[in-house]
Amino acid sequence: MSGQGVNDPVVVWLDADTVQLRQPKTSHWEAPFLYLLFGRERALLIDTGATADEAVFPLRTTVEGLIAEWLRRNPAVFVRPYPLVVAHSHGHGDHIAGDALLRDRPGTTVVGTSPAEVIGFFGFPTWPDATVSYDLGRRVVDVIGGPGHEPSAVVFFDRQTGILFTGDTVLPARLYVRDLGQYRATIERLIRFRDDPPAPVRELRGAHIEMSSEPGVDYPAGTVEQPDEAPLPLRPRILDRVLAALGELRGVPGERIVAKRFIVVVDR
Ligand SMILES: [Zn+2]
Repeated sequence: MSGQGVNDPVVVWLDADTVQLRQPKTSHWEAPFLYLLFGRERALLIDTGATADEAVFPLRTTVEGLIAEWLRRNPAVFVRPYPLVVAHSHGHGDHIAGDALLRDRPGTTVVGTSPAEVIGFFGFPTWPDATVSYDLGRRVVDVIGGPGHEPSAVVFFDRQTGILFTGDTVLPARLYVRDLGQYRATIERLIRFRDDPPAPVRELRGAHIEMSSEPGVDYPAGTVEQPDEAPLPLRPRILDRVLAALGELRGVPGERIVAKRFIVVVDR
């Protein structure tokens, strides 16, 4: 069902209940990745892309089609409308713009993007130290506090696939650190989670690719053609590399630490 139009998302089924979508560069150079996870009681959409115009990026049509496809394959799930929860890796515009396209969908809850709204929806008893679990129906997702790039950032861990959905926090791209203390605490929190997980952590998938396949070489912001980009998945041990890179920082605005698979940038 993907590839009908040049602006349609690139759809990859990661398993029978998990979809990776990428907004194409033709519709927005940020080309963010989105994820749709199906449970027996509801689906979870992580992020909505950079565009609030269905004609430019047909998010609503695509999500409806994917839900219909999954429900056809899972006829025992008969709740109608099948609930959809729309949550976010963080509140930056290129990950939440498509919220507007889904807000009026029947059975749909769009989680707010302030820290208070994220904390309230998932029920964090303390923030950001606590990890909470969120049940999609025979499928549990752990929600880990993740501020540092952005104040309301979270990381989702899907026990079924073993994927940590790391948003703009850890990805093959520039890691823009807004609050160094919070960011370091988030990486340490993710390492603790990885080392004592509720299910094996297989890989990390973030929200962008900005690195080329050449180690340490990124594409500049605004690049539309990335013919030789690095693969998206990162091994769990990348978290140790990120922590080590933070140790090299002096905390000067604009400072960059270049690693093979990512570049840490201290945000101005
Ligand atoms: Zn961001």
